[in-house]
Amino acid sequence: MLTLENLHKSYNSRPLLSGISFSVPAGETVCLLGASGSGKSTLLRIIAGLETPEAGRVLWDGADLASVPAHERNFGLFFQDYALFPHLSVEENVAFGLRMQGVPEREIGLRVANIIKQINLEGFEKRRVAELSGGEQQRVALARMLAPRPRLLMFDEPLGALDRVLKDDLLDELRRILRESGAPAIYVTHDQAEAFAIADRVLLLHEGRVIQDGSPAEVTANPVSAWAAHFLGLGNLLEGEVRMVTPEGWLVLTPAGEFIVGCGHSHRAGEKVNLLVRRERVRAAPEGRLRSRVADVVFQQSGFRVSLENGLVFRLDEAPKVGEEIRLELFPSAVQCLP
Ligand code: ADP
Ligand code: MG
Repeated sequence: MLTLENLHKSYNSRPLLSGISFSVPAGETVCLLGASGSGKSTLLRIIAGLETPEAGRVLWDGADLASVPAHERNFGLFFQDYALFPHLSVEENVAFGLRMQGVPEREIGLRVANIIKQINLEGFEKRRVAELSGGEQQRVALARMLAPRPRLLMFDEPLGALDRVLKDDLLDELRRILRESGAPAIYVTHDQAEAFAIADRVLLLHEGRVIQDGSPAEVTANPVSAWAAHFLGLGNLLEGEVRMVTPEGWLVLTPAGEFIVGCGHSHRAGEKVNLLVRRERVRAAPEGRLRSRVADVVFQQSGFRVSLENGLVFRLDEAPKVGEEIRLELFPSAVQCLP
């Protein structure tokens, strides 16, 4: 199990990581989600032993790794422009780390064959890496990372440059590999869809701290803040002012109109609140309270993304016409108030 205790790191006296603590037990994949520049790669480099923190500890099964150099940690770090040797064959690339470790040649042959099979690269053994497609090269890089059987797997935005279909294929493959390996894994991305597709647990990194830690379902249902909801793309965010309490909940006035929020908090009239209005918890209804003209309609696989002139965006099953006035009824669970 990997444990991080209160890690701090700054560059040029600007704090980047300000007290990071979490654990990753065996068999679990944790996704670290944060904006570009939030310190994700720096955190992985600290764990790998390539960078030293100003304070805090990196522990493996309870033992402090401060005095263990990077090459003795047996952690795997995979990143997007993972450098393969273009003039070497697939086999030779995968064997490279094992040769460095001094594994006997006979065992290298067996382990390379094994991993090539595991990662569906059979038939490619003798091909030079330079002759392979981007997706195939990515798989060779993955095989090379896995060959020395690292006890911790780390992925730093591994799918960045690939197209959608290749990404989905590789994500499926990664999920299977992570399940089979049983090693704890940390997967870093700024892409929320990618994180939710692979994570057992999602950690949100913001301003040097982990502001939320939960399963994809928990994080989606209860974002800790307006920033978190915005970053995760959970819906419309509105600043509003509490007007009064009604039998259904608090009446909140926003630039896009009035909303009722049944949040169970105790608010005061005049208090400013952030509202999250979910895009999909809504239906078109002739008596609907929300009225606006349609500004734009975009086809999506899950329905139509409908932008209204009041600035709100919803997902509807049927496409209205641009310019048409529509009326919508929000389900009670559509509106949440957030810190
Ligand atoms: P992320 O991976 O989340 O995009 P990084 O960890 O790469 O973020 O970097 C976060 C910030 O730290 C960047 O703004 C970068 O300028 C700064 N930084 C990273 N490494 C160094 C370094 N070795 N020296 C100075 N600044 C650095
Ligand atoms: Mg990075």
